[in-house]
Amino acid sequence: MMKYRILRKLTSLVCITIITLLHTNCSQINQNITSFNLYTTQEEMEIGYKISQQYEKQLSLIDDPEIVDYINEIGQRMVGVSKRKSIPFEFKVVDDLSVNAFALPGGFCYINTGLILFADTEAELASVIGHEIAHVVGEHSMKRLSKTRAINGVLQVGNILGLILFGQETTDNALLIADLASTGVLMNYSRGDELEADRLGIQQMHDAGFDPIGSQSFFKKLSKKDGGNSAGFFSTHPATDDRFKQAKRLIENLPNKNYDTLSNSKFDDIKSKISSR
Ligand SMILES: [Zn+2]
Repeated sequence: MMKYRILRKLTSLVCITIITLLHTNCSQINQNITSFNLYTTQEEMEIGYKISQQYEKQLSLIDDPEIVDYINEIGQRMVGVSKRKSIPFEFKVVDDLSVNAFALPGGFCYINTGLILFADTEAELASVIGHEIAHVVGEHSMKRLSKTRAINGVLQVGNILGLILFGQETTDNALLIADLASTGVLMNYSRGDELEADRLGIQQMHDAGFDPIGSQSFFKKLSKKDGGNSAGFFSTHPATDDRFKQAKRLIENLPNKNYDTLSNSKFDDIKSKISSR
């Protein structure tokens, strides 16, 4: 009888210990993996390149050098002052009138013609390009992928990435890359990621000489258009109160600087060139 009672106590103690350990481990993992990146920069660039190739099969890219060079110049100015200038960013213009822009891991950035036309000033346009650069600087996609891999194990995402990195270019492999590209794992950013991209983006604008006030006026435009236009950048980047307040506070606290004028004739020329296409 005595033995049985001791055994029962021991059993419940073991159970409690296991539960506690599991709980502790889970919460530790959850805390760590949100800012944990399992991939090297080389792997990130490889993954980004493969996915960009897949995306570009479905996109219609603008090849007019004047338009592409203009966007590239704005982007490279901000990359040059960013915390990740070591990787070669690429900026491409997508012939698509919906308001959208996105960045893939490794610095492959895409800006829609619709976004360029939607911006009223060069500074507004720079604010969106800077925000997308900042998602790459913050390694947001790779952290998200690391988190997915930590939760699902290497079975799903790990296998897909293994094939992307080391596998042959088979049809199956291409389909897997397409699958990863379309699942939204890479660009389904958290609210924290968005706020960080705003913070880094505003700093990059300031350091590169673009007036950060452009990000605030762009937020205003996003919020006004929210009701009528719910696709693209409007749905992935809602102009929430916390984003607006953070931007306002950051801009107020920046040291004085002589920025470029909010807009210029080059910006107007590029817009009319796109409009007349
Ligand atoms: Zn974003």
